[in-house]
Amino acid sequence: MIFLGPQGSGKGTEAALIEEFLKKNDSRPVAHFSMGNALREFMAEDGYTAQRTRPSMDRGELQPLFLTGGLFSNFLIRHMTPHTHLIIDGFPRMDTQLILLNSALEFYDRKPVFVVYLSITDEVAIERLVKRGRADDTPEAIKKRLRWTKEQNAPILSWFKANPRYQIIEVDTTPPILETNQAVLKALRFI
Ligand code: AMP
Repeated sequence: MIFLGPQGSGKGTEAALIEEFLKKNDSRPVAHFSMGNALREFMAEDGYTAQRTRPSMDRGELQPLFLTGGLFSNFLIRHMTPHTHLIIDGFPRMDTQLILLNSALEFYDRKPVFVVYLSITDEVAIERLVKRGRADDTPEAIKKRLRWTKEQNAPILSWFKANPRYQIIEVDTTPPILETNQAVLKALRFI
């Protein structure tokens, strides 16, 4: 399952709730990769590379392909088994990452892959992000990220739609978190 959507649409929250649901109700192992979390964990480490990512993360800028691709690939190598439920959020956010992700899902022969697109209006997204108050949630950073998510999500979604490996599910995330979660679980046919 791949969770896509603008910042503030609740990708991380919904992906974590699906992870929790599957861990409770399904015997298969579950692996959840959040690119934002992976980058934040990496950024907190010592070292020159981690140090170089910090200022641009704080400005809300996309991180380079070699780093995001490396973190994602390492995660798969560590966690994939034939039965692992794979949950991904915050990735892919650019066409090069899409190619990388698709090559991995082809390699692991995963089909169908559900792409859960969480839609939200700008107003609600901004309201949520301001409330969340993370270090990179300054008004400038929020505006920058909303702009690039819009520019970058559209071609990614079209690419998924054109590829039979992927099934697109669109869920409006304006309602409260748990209501949205029920809609996602239903759309994925877990309930
Ligand atoms: P998120 O937790 O999804 O809001 O992501 C936090 C920050 O991590 C973003 O503002 C970007 O700076 C960076 N980031 C997250 N996902 C990606 C990605 N797929 N590619 C590049 N940078 C990313």
